[in-house]
Amino acid sequence: MLFDCDEDEARRHALMVSECFSQLDAEDEEAFDSEEDEERLLDIEYRCPDCDHEWQEQWSCACESQCPNCGLKNISALSWSDAAE
Ligand SMILES: [Zn+2]
Repeated sequence: MLFDCDEDEARRHALMVSECFSQLDAEDEEAFDSEEDEERLLDIEYRCPDCDHEWQEQWSCACESQCPNCGLKNISALSWSDAAE
């Protein structure tokens, strides 16, 4: 009886491991796909309304950023253009 129980446990464990691995594979493929989508980058200019600090960042979209000088958050992009390749 004890042996049967162990075997059952081992089989269940093997199944869990294989499920875990198939999930990992799926996540890897998704990560690979999104990397391909990020080929185009934008040079985005920001100017902080609080301290007038100006800086540039590269993102795949013109999203809001944080002032590296005074730490003010949610600063909208001033302008952007396709990054030089
Ligand atoms: Zn600032």
